[in-house]
Amino acid sequence: MGRKFFVGGNWKCNGTTEEVKKIVNTLNEAQVPSQDVVEVVVSPPFVFLPAVKSILRPDFQVAAQNCWVKKGGAFTGEVSAEMLKNLDIPWVILGHSERRALLNESNEFVGDKVAYALSQGLKVIACVGETLEQRESGSTMDVVAAQTKAIADRVSNWSDVVIAYEPVWAIGTGKVATPAQAQDVHDELRKWLAKNVSAEVAATIRIIYGGSVNGANCKELAGQPDVDGFLVGGASLKPEFVDIIKSSEVKKSV
Ligand code: PEP
Repeated sequence: MGRKFFVGGNWKCNGTTEEVKKIVNTLNEAQVPSQDVVEVVVSPPFVFLPAVKSILRPDFQVAAQNCWVKKGGAFTGEVSAEMLKNLDIPWVILGHSERRALLNESNEFVGDKVAYALSQGLKVIACVGETLEQRESGSTMDVVAAQTKAIADRVSNWSDVVIAYEPVWAIGTGKVATPAQAQDVHDELRKWLAKNVSAEVAATIRIIYGGSVNGANCKELAGQPDVDGFLVGGASLKPEFVDIIKSSEVKKSV
């Protein structure tokens, strides 16, 4: 189907100058499949973005972890999409569950952010996912569909969007979704997109999984037909991130 495997590393609010250099050195020395097989994007905190971009191998890219919902100006503490573009930062993560939960970002606000970032020429990793309570009450797909709809209502060109399905109960908990659970939601989400956006977007958009992915569980997850890669938190700070990148090879034999 030609969806290139995508591996994102979300460093969250972690790192010192020394630690960041160490992570980049490990990545720079790693033997990984070529850019034709896998797209790798790491997302350091804002303050380290230019430095990481300048020392990171050229076949890997960088992403910001957030950006402001509209044009910059009197918004103390925010970073605008224009600034990221000005610094040649190609990607931004939006709608991460930590921001939805801790900073009360609503579906509509995230949808506005995605639309604005795309309008400024950024590529977007848009995160969706249900809480444990929502999963247990059987509303996983309703939640994920509502989050995706808020984006679909505002976006017409999906070619620069990757959707990260990240069940909240799996993020940072060590409790990874089973391959079947991940495949099930990715498949449903693709069906939702086919019905509500277009068959073409449904077939071509990359839907990546996030939530306690590590070097040990990545291969089995990568083997699922609708899992097009990963968004990795904790393990993206460790050398095992390289093994996660290498799990893209599983697709060759699927
Ligand atoms: C994330 O923050 O996007 C994430 C998936 O974290 P972790 O891999 O640590 O669960």
